Amino acid sequence: MVASVDTARAGAVLTVDLAAVRANWRLLRRTAGKAACAAVMKADAYGLGMDMVAPALAEEGCRVFFTAHLEEAMRLRPLVPDDSTIYVLHGPPPGATAEFVEHGLVPVLNDPAQIADWRAACRRHRQRLPAALQFDTGMSRMGLAPVDVDRLLADPAWKDEFKPVLAMSHLACADDAGHPMNRAQRERFAVLRARFPGLPGSLANSSAVFLGPDYHHDLARPGAALYGINPHPGKDNPLRQAVGLRARIVQSRMVAAGDAVGYGARYVADGPRRIATIGIGYADGWLRFLSGRGHAYIDGVPVPIAGTVSMDSITLDVTGIPEGRVAPGCEVDLLCAQQTVDDVAREAATIGYEVLTRLGSRFHRRYR
Ligand SMILES: *Cc1c(COP(=O)(O)O)cnc(C)c1O
Repeated sequence: MVASVDTARAGAVLTVDLAAVRANWRLLRRTAGKAACAAVMKADAYGLGMDMVAPALAEEGCRVFFTAHLEEAMRLRPLVPDDSTIYVLHGPPPGATAEFVEHGLVPVLNDPAQIADWRAACRRHRQRLPAALQFDTGMSRMGLAPVDVDRLLADPAWKDEFKPVLAMSHLACADDAGHPMNRAQRERFAVLRARFPGLPGSLANSSAVFLGPDYHHDLARPGAALYGINPHPGKDNPLRQAVGLRARIVQSRMVAAGDAVGYGARYVADGPRRIATIGIGYADGWLRFLSGRGHAYIDGVPVPIAGTVSMDSITLDVTGIPEGRVAPGCEVDLLCAQQTVDDVAREAATIGYEVLTRLGSRFHRRYR
């Protein structure tokens, strides 16, 4: 129950279960049927560590990866087999096309300016370089509007300059299976795709993989589900949890009725209570919003957060837990079988994505 010396140097240990990530990818690939299955690696593989996650998925046979930024894609390139395709969702930033060519990265072209840049790059390199085209089908975030598509197709020279390899779009409401936006976006995507005969399509994020074959097209692009986030909150999660988080008790004390705990003195004991302080806080991504409302677990028993979450520590009401189990050095679970990423998200009024991607850089990381 007492942390070993190496892990005790850090406030908490984050355990990443690579076998679970691999199993989740296999399930997504199976569920995606005839479509190929990519893996989204943005934000350091949603906080789990791209260095470890990407090679593990490559071993499973994954050969298509997505990042948000060029920088992430450049870091990913040496981690995956040479025959892997790496798409950069945000496309080429102005003036950066040469780095795409140098590192063999495929931009997702989202607007006319990116298309013009890519065409110019192809002319400079005298090569028909591959690119994906993203269409906006209703999210108004990134992608070509129908009028941009009209303009592109009005000048057929573009096709001799660059090589379109994928048509894609992104769903706004895929986590809500019954939402009418899903169908509306799928239909708009079909109309736009019809203007590019033979071009493979990709629409599905994690949640959309579970919306059925109409959403699968040629390539699924899951991120969150790989890392155990429930694609349809409120329903049973078909995926395996991929992370565990265990902190260490730094100090433990009795407080008396009327004693305050933490910043702002927001918690005042109504009788004798035992308070244990753990070495993790909002600087580690444990949201301050969880002050006075979140929980940790000791041997599967919930212990409430008492008072305000500090930068580097959290005070827990551990009254009733055997004293020997709450001494300095004893371990407390924050992500475990009893408390998943989605559970924390619910208590923190956010989504699992945010809980995961905020997990801090100060943890000792252990990969299984
Ligand atoms: C982040 C992202 C994905 C992955 O979405 P998940 O919901 O995490 O599966 C897929 N496509 C695009 C365009 C994205 O931005």
